[in-house]
Amino acid sequence: MAKVILVGCGNVGMAFAYALATSTSSVRELVLIDTNHAKAEGDALDLGHAAVYNSSPIKVRAGGYSECDNADIICICAGANQLPGQTRADLVNTNYKIMHSIVSNVAKTKFRGIYVVATNPVDVMTFFVQKLSGFAHKRVVGSGTTLDTARLRFLVGEELGIHPRGVHAYVLGEHGDTAFIPWSLAYVGISKIDMYLNDDKRARILWDVRNSAYDIINKKGSTYYGIGICLRDLVVAILEDQKVIRTVSCYDKQSDTYFGMPAVLSKGGATLTKCLEFNQQERDALAKSIDAIKKIIYTVDATIHR
Ligand code: NAD
Repeated sequence: MAKVILVGCGNVGMAFAYALATSTSSVRELVLIDTNHAKAEGDALDLGHAAVYNSSPIKVRAGGYSECDNADIICICAGANQLPGQTRADLVNTNYKIMHSIVSNVAKTKFRGIYVVATNPVDVMTFFVQKLSGFAHKRVVGSGTTLDTARLRFLVGEELGIHPRGVHAYVLGEHGDTAFIPWSLAYVGISKIDMYLNDDKRARILWDVRNSAYDIINKKGSTYYGIGICLRDLVVAILEDQKVIRTVSCYDKQSDTYFGMPAVLSKGGATLTKCLEFNQQERDALAKSIDAIKKIIYTVDATIHR
């Protein structure tokens, strides 16, 4: 039975904690860390009190970084959030400093597990958590385009009146404005998706996927339930050595970047799958996305990293 540390008990962190606490049997302890320790304590009490009605054996408590010594996973959800009108890239300098402080604290412990990062811009933050920690690349995993992929499968499912699980389609690249859908590799059941969706419908779905977060932020301030469930899925897949494929933010040696690609999740972390046959348009879209991520990384390098 595993021990999970959550750093950052805001909306995203607590949506993840709630999802984990109510629906897994593989986690024994969940420790909440936040610069606002009173909030972490309050959340731990609030979530922990329901143990009597919970089938999960999880024990929730607030703690400090010494708890990381024997932890299996540290899930990072700490950081500034997009305000209406802001892009994820606008958060980069503030959140880089937060990653720096978290990883420096963890480095003082004996933590040898896996980092799962959700803080935005998530591909860039995952890149820096790996760099700052010096961990093997596969042991630092970002939530990548898992949420975007969930949104895509939901939207196609709604359009066609089928369950999202019957939609085999993925969003790849940056978790941001250059995220793209390789439609040539997208299926509904065993049929190519273009049998069901014409160019106009595909263009509208891509627009909806890219703009979902902006739409939700305009309506209610921030997004958290969807990513909370995605994070629960990733963390449990790693802990249970499930070897499922998810579009996490994974390291690509050729570009020396992290971005959303299908990867196998196991106890060792995330391993990129290698069998994608993109068409030229998709190769261009991926190159554009990698370029966008690298530009944000260089911004940090130039201002504070060096
Ligand atoms: P929030 O403001 O509700 O919570 C952030 C929390 O982080 C606060 O409780 C704050 O006290 C804490 N914190 C700040 N600095 C800290 C530090 N150094 N150590 C420990 N805790 C610290 O924000 P939120 O809505 O929970 O969003 C958190 C992050 O998740 C944002 O960067 C947001 O953009 C991102 N996010 C990612 C996805 C995704 O798909 N990856 C989806 C939604 C949001």
